[in-house]
Amino acid sequence: MADHQVLYRRWRPLTFSEVVGQEMVVTALRNQVKQGRLSHAYLFCGSRGTGKTSCAKILARAANCTDPRDGDACGECESCRRMGDESSFDILEYDAASNSKVEQMREILESVQYPPQFGRYKVFIIDEVHMLTNNAFNALLKTLEEPPAYMIFILATTEPHKVPATILSRCQRYDFGRIPAAQIRDRLRQAADREGITSTDGALMQIARAAEGGMRDALSILDMCIGYGQDVDETLVSHVLGTSDRSFLFRFTEGLVNEDAEEVIRCVDELMNAGHEPAVFARELAGHLRLLLVARCAPDHLADMMDLSDDAAQQYIGQAQTASESRLMSMLDIFLGVDGALRYAASPRFALESAALHACLRTGETDTAALLDRVRELESALRDLKGRIESGAIQTRVPAPAEKPADAPAPTETKQGTSPEQTADKTMTQIWKQAIAGLAKTDPGLFALANQIRLVSAEDYTFRWAPASEDSAAAGFFTRPERAARMEEVLTMAAGEQCRFVPEHRERAEQPRSAQSMDDLFETFGRENVIVQDS
Ligand SMILES: [Zn+2]
Repeated sequence: MADHQVLYRRWRPLTFSEVVGQEMVVTALRNQVKQGRLSHAYLFCGSRGTGKTSCAKILARAANCTDPRDGDACGECESCRRMGDESSFDILEYDAASNSKVEQMREILESVQYPPQFGRYKVFIIDEVHMLTNNAFNALLKTLEEPPAYMIFILATTEPHKVPATILSRCQRYDFGRIPAAQIRDRLRQAADREGITSTDGALMQIARAAEGGMRDALSILDMCIGYGQDVDETLVSHVLGTSDRSFLFRFTEGLVNEDAEEVIRCVDELMNAGHEPAVFARELAGHLRLLLVARCAPDHLADMMDLSDDAAQQYIGQAQTASESRLMSMLDIFLGVDGALRYAASPRFALESAALHACLRTGETDTAALLDRVRELESALRDLKGRIESGAIQTRVPAPAEKPADAPAPTETKQGTSPEQTADKTMTQIWKQAIAGLAKTDPGLFALANQIRLVSAEDYTFRWAPASEDSAAAGFFTRPERAARMEEVLTMAAGEQCRFVPEHRERAEQPRSAQSMDDLFETFGRENVIVQDS
């Protein structure tokens, strides 16, 4: 384990310029050094490995440097040289996690009464200050109330809410944010290259993400990887972290979304065979589902907020489109909730399988939101189906005349999609065309009007017509009995059989339902779910 500290210690920043992330904190502290306006008490808050202790030491050196440069220690003056080795008596480090008692605190506070040996300031760094007992806090408070002019207290904590308000009110507070993964990756790249380690960007990014904003953890993981070999790639990192690769998470989620229980069970089996820890996988999957939720709610900010490459962001956005927010949230809840079960279950594999099947088969989704969600999915499927029928992507065997565009062309324009060939028996269509064409010579006026109607259907010498457009004068014209009779005469002549010429009624126009589209409805929703109502 000693080796695991090596990279972290070697790559610990020694100056403000070397600190990764924390730009706001660093700028503020630098300015205080430059202006010589240092406070007597600081509180550095932030999660582990974000640079609190490193910055405390950098501030201690800069405060004591006789020739600070841009707020940073020069590294050359006597003070800098003395503080370079970590044995300086003027920097006191105190770990409250292991020395929480008042006696230990009093002991160290004793030394506060002696001024610094070499520099201007004596710096007292207390790590994990929230661990102190109440009595120890009280002892510290007395000193903080009237600190000697040469004292600087730097209290570091991951849990500032546990620090008494009386202490907080005497400190200048600085919050250390999690370091963006891209910045961690860049620092890892520097370290790996300088140490002569071959590494892929993907692998370093994977480490950076796993470190969750902590540089110390990131360097420790890199160290562990180096323990396995000099080539750090994604497979090695996955192995060291015990994680599954991203494509597997996409595949697993696809199985869940598609309610493909067989695929989901197969995935769990692969995970187990590869020796993965079910609890680790559940956490990774929860992380994946969270990314999908962000992708769904804020696709434009996904890459920035989650430190993803544009390609990766697109991949998440793509998968996010396959499920609704509430579906993703219910899956996320399941995998967040399974954590305890996985840790204490006799067979973690059973617990993971059970959670996966619940998420896949949606057994727990009985609330209103989930039901609404399913209704919405059905509505969307219906819309999609309707669109496909209207666009002609699905061929209908029987015409649905009402869906024809109102400005359908005249029947003689046979090249158009709505020509009678599609809608009527071939021979009947020929009779119709022949009859209309004959009118051109014998009755041009009637011919002109006949071109404003279209043939809707024709069988057994019954020709059903409709106006080619809503405002066509022909509609009124041909419904009059004597004109209809005239058309019947013309058609009968062309056919050699008694023909009927009748207007297509609107009610009739909406019938019949396309047999093909009914098949599609049955296929999409299941036969038992489609109720056919005749109007
Ligand atoms: Zn110096």
